[in-house]
Amino acid sequence: MRTIQVGSLFGIPVLVHPAWFALFALTTLILATDVYPSTIEGGSPAVHIALAAASSVLFFASIILHELAHSLVARAYRIPVRSITLFLFGGVAQITRDAARPTAELLMSLAGPLMSFAVAGACIAGWWALGGGSSEPQQVMLLWVGAMNGLLGAFNLLPAFPMDGGRVFRSLLWLITGSYYRASMVAGWTGRLFAWAMMALGALALVGYDVWVIDRFGGAWFILVGLFLEGAARQALLYTRLMETLGRYRAGDLMVPDPPVVDGQMSVGALARGALELNPRLCYFIEEEGRLAGILGAHQMQEVPEPLWDMTPAARAMVPSARLRAANPGQPIADVMVEMESAGLMHMPVVTDGRVVGVISLDRIFGVLRQAGIL
Ligand SMILES: [Zn+2]
Repeated sequence: MRTIQVGSLFGIPVLVHPAWFALFALTTLILATDVYPSTIEGGSPAVHIALAAASSVLFFASIILHELAHSLVARAYRIPVRSITLFLFGGVAQITRDAARPTAELLMSLAGPLMSFAVAGACIAGWWALGGGSSEPQQVMLLWVGAMNGLLGAFNLLPAFPMDGGRVFRSLLWLITGSYYRASMVAGWTGRLFAWAMMALGALALVGYDVWVIDRFGGAWFILVGLFLEGAARQALLYTRLMETLGRYRAGDLMVPDPPVVDGQMSVGALARGALELNPRLCYFIEEEGRLAGILGAHQMQEVPEPLWDMTPAARAMVPSARLRAANPGQPIADVMVEMESAGLMHMPVVTDGRVVGVISLDRIFGVLRQAGIL
């Protein structure tokens, strides 16, 4: 299902996943039929429904504020933020990369929960200014929104990576050990253990043993959130191992040096036949009028149906140099990979002093990851 953009804040698009509407409806329903009728004295169902809808809107606006706080701190550290998305388990800010320093990560992770606590404080202050009662509609609503924000802040501070608390935990480990990799691995595994514990508690509640979890509905919810957190922690661990493996290489280490240079008028058949089976990473530089015109890799040759091989000149099957970007031999391979993936490139020439010295293929990078058991 695709997300829907509902607006933007500080230039950051705010998106909503369709499943979120179900959560919004459920929250409003529970408030209108259960929570508010039992706390507000003498209100009509219409008042309950209006108040419930307003409360849900305020609550989800608070979630957006929480994510916005993360996003603005990230931006202050020059880390681009792609979007803020509301989905079934709350909100998430798509912050494009990790912080470069532990203190930056610490502040980025703390910003969200601090914002939630600030909103909770503002609600309690408003409730107090209105007289501090517990049966007037506006007061009940402010109490509920305040309590939800308090819970939101506290829940996110649980040390389960990749939740905020887990990130705080990682940044502290990173500060102490000085190793981003070790801190990430410990935080990731702590997150997984935490998720398993949540699922175990949920399962116990489902079969009737209540330990902290209130009822079967709570048990099912614990299992669902546990599953989600487990997946997220596993992904984070994989990402850590991926970055660690790629961190050992630079573009110069993985490039095919000086691939053969051929003329653009040669047929794909003449270049591929016999050679492609022997070397699946086969790659040519294509020259036209003495200048580099493009790159012809195994992938491009395979795109041409075999019966057409002899009729297709290399220049027509190649990736033209205008569409290629270049790397330099010292560039970290992780950066190269991100660039290639975002531009949809399979090959990238490696250039020193304006001279092409080799070519990197995405296949080769994936090969390294496969060897490390990551893919
Ligand atoms: Zn957060």
